[in-house]
Amino acid sequence: MIEYDFVNTPIVDIVNRIIIFASQHKASDIHFDPREDCMMIRMRMDGRLKDHSKVPKMYEKNLTTRVKLISKMNITETRIPQDGAIKGVVDGKELDMRVSALPTNEGEKIVVRLLDYSQSLEGIETLGFSPKNLKKIERLLDIPNGIILVTGATGSGKSTTTYSMLSAINTEDRNIITVEDPVEMNIEGINQVYVNAEIGLTFASALRSILRQDPDVILIGEIRDSETAQIAVRAAITGHLVLSTIHTNNALSTIERLLDMDVERYLLSTALNGIISQKLARTLCPDCKRLRPTTSYEKQIFEKMLGQDVKEVYEPVGCDKCNRGFRGRIALHEVLFLTDRLRELINDEETEKEELRKAVYDEDTTTLLQDALQKVVEGYTTFKEVYRVVDIDFDLEKSIRKEVREQEKLKNKNEKLEIIDLYDTTNSNMKISNKELSKIKEKAKEEAEKKYIKKKKFVDNDIIDIFEGTTPPTNNKDEAKQSKEKKETKKETKKEDKK
Ligand SMILES: [Zn+2]
Repeated sequence: MIEYDFVNTPIVDIVNRIIIFASQHKASDIHFDPREDCMMIRMRMDGRLKDHSKVPKMYEKNLTTRVKLISKMNITETRIPQDGAIKGVVDGKELDMRVSALPTNEGEKIVVRLLDYSQSLEGIETLGFSPKNLKKIERLLDIPNGIILVTGATGSGKSTTTYSMLSAINTEDRNIITVEDPVEMNIEGINQVYVNAEIGLTFASALRSILRQDPDVILIGEIRDSETAQIAVRAAITGHLVLSTIHTNNALSTIERLLDMDVERYLLSTALNGIISQKLARTLCPDCKRLRPTTSYEKQIFEKMLGQDVKEVYEPVGCDKCNRGFRGRIALHEVLFLTDRLRELINDEETEKEELRKAVYDEDTTTLLQDALQKVVEGYTTFKEVYRVVDIDFDLEKSIRKEVREQEKLKNKNEKLEIIDLYDTTNSNMKISNKELSKIKEKAKEEAEKKYIKKKKFVDNDIIDIFEGTTPPTNNKDEAKQSKEKKETKKETKKEDKK
């Protein structure tokens, strides 16, 4: 954590330094959290909150007032929530910040969101799409009309992807208009409309006017309601390219969601061209990551999902250049290119969900999980991260866990057979002296004992099912009894001592 010198530094400088720190470290949010004994400043980096500095309670008021002042909020008002914005140049970089103040029982909590869309302008090819997915997106952008949807949760980077696509087709021969709430990034050469529900300018009403403005491409910030969804589809089938985002998890649920929004099947099946689903995972720090062998469970997943035999994967370590082994984030994608077969299925009311699923995930579509696992194989992220952000099919997981357990059982059985082989002299073709044989027997016995003790420990830890059928190779039971008896007599002598 950083300690600011509140006694000798003007509050103006401290606030600037906090913002500069956040910008330089690519934080997405700064939290000013009032607590009982202090104010905690935290920053969200790579999707996770991290303590930044502790501010003594007596400076809290000065600090929040300064932040509210530069955000153009009413500084005398502390009892109701307020919104504001800060625009400024930090380190030669233009920064846009959205600020929110919320009264809590410990005081006003302020959150500053730093908007950084510099990545959108670096091009789609810098966003981590696999070569196959990138090709699909280029094909999608070549079609002059229809809808392309980007889906994902809040903070999944879908705005960055949408703006990148928009920048890619932003040429002088196209009239591009956007409707956004709010306008997240100003793009040269594009007309951007800011939705304002208070004066009745909704997505739907703005869209109706935009259609009369002779657009080629329309960006709708987000499809939230049925009316917007229907206008978007109509715009697409009347010769416009429509880009938009929707809050769903994957391609399949997006189609279902749109049908739930009362978009007519035949319109949707004609208008929809593609769906890009996206999630973000933390990227391994290239300076300190290290290889480790894959577990049997991971091996199975790689085998089943990618058809690859993966022997090693990277794990995080942590160094002074990163945050516990991670630095930055990488997007995981699923890109669906609508085929004629899919259009038919969407159009048909009789289509079962399972049938639609099969058609969506045919061999041409890489699922989010497959894309994520490939990024683990390539060393960008970890298996654990993938588990954290991507839903793994429950049935698949259950079947893999069962297989792994059965393999373990088989392995143990084979080990036991090996030991028995060593004992079985009548069956042995080896010509060895009795002395050597007894030595081998002795060694095998030792090994077996060691293994038994190791396994017993596991059994004690409740992992009994894996080691079913394993019997002790020696009369260890008696030994255990004896040692137990010894312990008990010890206890008793202790008790007597106490008395
Ligand atoms: Zn590192």
